[in-house]
Amino acid sequence: MSQFSYKDGVLHAEGASLSAIAGEFGTPTYVYSKARLLANFASYADACQGRDALVCYAMKANSNLAILDLLAREGAGFDIVSGGELLRVLAAGGDPRKVIFSGVGKSVEEMRLALSHDILCFNVESIPELHRLNEVAGAMGKQARISLRVNPNVDAKTHPYIATGLKASKFGVAFSDALETYRTAAALPHLQVSGIDCHIGSQLLDDAPLLEALDRLIELIDQLGAEGIELHHLDIGGGIGIDYREAGESAPVPVGDYLGRLFAKIDAWRNARHDGKPIKVIFEPGRSIVGDTGVLLTRVEFLKHGEERNFCIVDAAMNDMARPALYQAWMDMQPVVQNGAAAATYDVVGPICESGDWLARDRALAVEAGDLLVMHTAGAYGMTMASNYNTRGRAAEVIVDGSVCHLVRQRENPADLYALESLIK
Ligand SMILES: *Cc1c(COP(=O)(O)O)cnc(C)c1O
Repeated sequence: MSQFSYKDGVLHAEGASLSAIAGEFGTPTYVYSKARLLANFASYADACQGRDALVCYAMKANSNLAILDLLAREGAGFDIVSGGELLRVLAAGGDPRKVIFSGVGKSVEEMRLALSHDILCFNVESIPELHRLNEVAGAMGKQARISLRVNPNVDAKTHPYIATGLKASKFGVAFSDALETYRTAAALPHLQVSGIDCHIGSQLLDDAPLLEALDRLIELIDQLGAEGIELHHLDIGGGIGIDYREAGESAPVPVGDYLGRLFAKIDAWRNARHDGKPIKVIFEPGRSIVGDTGVLLTRVEFLKHGEERNFCIVDAAMNDMARPALYQAWMDMQPVVQNGAAAATYDVVGPICESGDWLARDRALAVEAGDLLVMHTAGAYGMTMASNYNTRGRAAEVIVDGSVCHLVRQRENPADLYALESLIK
């Protein structure tokens, strides 16, 4: 069930009116539902019940401290892609022993920071990275637990910018090089080979490519075992899609169904070839945890009726929500108040001086200047991709819990934006 629904003609987030939220906190503002967040996490946690499994939330999807705290309290681990994200986990009270570190370009400083907090595992993406990590760990008198991110060369059938598991991708170690790379890793004294991982892409509506990737990981784990390199965990990455409700798009696979099929495959394999001995399973979901928890609330500044197109100019822009400009993403828009006026077709655009600054195209909307709109399913890759282009302060963020609204990030002021700048003396 959606936590965003109309009550007496006004869109609510749980029990709170979005009109009232706009009045109290201004616009543009990201508004998240706590109940939805916890329900999404539970869909993973419930399917993992009684198993040696860890859900490491991919926090680049939404890294607000309040969200991290809520998830940490439910037992979540975190998939980080920078030292900065590790500092956020610590600031939110998360457990660094449940952190895995992904990414193709980890710096020496980031490795040191992560080792000093004894994170669970580094997901290593290249041979030079193995050598760098071995040196850094050695200099600190430590051993780094590692997994290799293997590129299983399966087609995730998603947008090219968010497909990451094909041969031409910058991510991971090629499947054909994986055995040799594991041998290299196993011979390095300050590394402890611990697992294997992959992440084939994002917004996958079907789990078939993920199950295909799992087959390839299983194949490698058994080949490595035959050489005496025993892996203790397998990490299948994230990638399950969510329902942006674009007409004609199929619904995403339910998380519980996907995990059921995945565990069935893993159990069959462990029973057939490992005397039923279990292996730890790690997930790295981002979008499917936070995507449908949030909306971006915005106000109409002007309506502009052109010769060929009508524009609905709002106070949110590509700097607040980059997905349409970046991926031509379709996101649903609705007026907060159903006023019964006649709809016209609009392109919804922001104030930024770029033609790419649009949020939605060709939408039938019954709106007037001053009305409020929401952009739905904006909880993932929204605020975390926001910028200060055009010296626009980033939006406020609010979490709704029942009818209680918590401001979890203040709106930025222009003075905040140039506070670190200085004139030439
Ligand atoms: C972005 C990312 C994820 C999360 O992907 P979603 O599609 O948001 O679930 C998981 N793992 C890695 C390595 C990533 O880069």
